[in-house]
This record gives sequence, structure tokens and C-alpha cells, in this order.
Amino acid sequence: MKCRIVILIFALIGLLHTSSSFAAEKLIVLTFDDGPRPYVLENLLPLLQKYSAPATFFMIGAKILPNDKLVKKMSENGYEIENHSWGHENLVKLLREKGALAVKLNLEKTSNLIFKITGRKPRFFRPPYWEINADVEKVVRDLGLVPMKLDNPDINTMDYTDFSNHRPVEVLIDRVKKNIERREKQNFYKHILTFHELPLTVEALKVLIPYFQGQGYKFIRLDQ
Ligand SMILES: [Zn+2]
Repeated sequence: MKCRIVILIFALIGLLHTSSSFAAEKLIVLTFDDGPRPYVLENLLPLLQKYSAPATFFMIGAKILPNDKLVKKMSENGYEIENHSWGHENLVKLLREKGALAVKLNLEKTSNLIFKITGRKPRFFRPPYWEINADVEKVVRDLGLVPMKLDNPDINTMDYTDFSNHRPVEVLIDRVKKNIERREKQNFYKHILTFHELPLTVEALKVLIPYFQGQGYKFIRLDQ
């Protein structure tokens, strides 16, 4: 009997220990779409470095081409470069109008360019406008890419609407905090935030990165 109680106590301690270490794992992946935009990166990258925050960039092939040296340097500095199509096409529309091969060539061209510059093959694809259907998804997966989907797992921060409507930065900061709080209430402690390479986003992150670090969050790359 005594022995059983001792085992039970040890089991309980073990359980408490495991659940507390699970609760401690608070992770955020910062992702940035539609770049590279050098005029934003010159402010964004030093900010990320200041807080030792890694990040993942979903880039557009046509914009990578004239900024190859910058993209190479970003990759060397530990930033993850992923595929966001060649020219920000709506791929559902492209497939309907030009067929699956056109989608395949679009994604392949982008992945090949990223590989040529960074030496690392992209692993994830975020569809422009999150426009994806079963036919597009098949092409994406056949190329060995994992598609990112809206709400699961992507959280849309809506930074682009704030930027185009000239809203004050507090609106974006507040929305991101509320999104995370809402998810924490549902016991989600891992979040993938979709931002864009925008000046407003850099301003918001000056507040949000130290705020979440203060809450015990760790920033990681998507491929981690
Ligand atoms: Zn985009």
C-alpha cells in the first residue's frame, strides 16, 4: 500500500512537471510577406537583431531577382526564405485559366531562384491572398512544399489594411495582442503571425517584440 502511494506521488510530480513545461513553451513565428523591400528591411532587420528574433520571409520571385545580394545575406544571417509565388498571382485563377503546369512553373521558378541564391530549398508556400483549392494544393505538395492556410495555422494581422487606410500603429498593436489573448484562452501557445514588409509593421514590432518576450514568448523560424 505504502509503495503504491509513493508511486502515485511520483506519478503526480511527473505529471505536474510535464504540464508546466508544456505551458512554458510559448512560441511565436514572425513571418513577413511580399518582399524583399529593401527600404523596409533596412529598419526591420536591425530591429529583429536587437531582440535576437529570428523570422521567416515569404518572398516574391520577381522581387528577389533584383535584390539577390540582400536575400543571400539575409539567409546567411539566419533568416528563413520561403516561397510566395513569382509575381503574387492568384493561383486558383491562374490554374483555371492556364492549367496546372502554369502554376507548377510559377512555383518552381521561385523555389529554384531561392535555392540558387541561398543554397536552401524552400519548404513552405503561402498562397497570395490565401487563394488555394484542392487542384492548386496538389501542385504545391507535388513540389514538396507545405501550403500555409488562413486561420490554420496562419494568423492574419491585417497590417496591410492598417497601412493602406493610414490607421495609427496602436490599432495594429492592439489587434495582434487581442488575437494572441483570444488564442491563449483556447490554450494555444504557438502562433504564426502573418505580417508584411511595411513601415507600419516595423513600428508595431518595436512594441510587440519586447511585449511578447516579456510574456515569456520565444521567437522561432517556421522550419524550426
Ligand atoms: Zn502576399
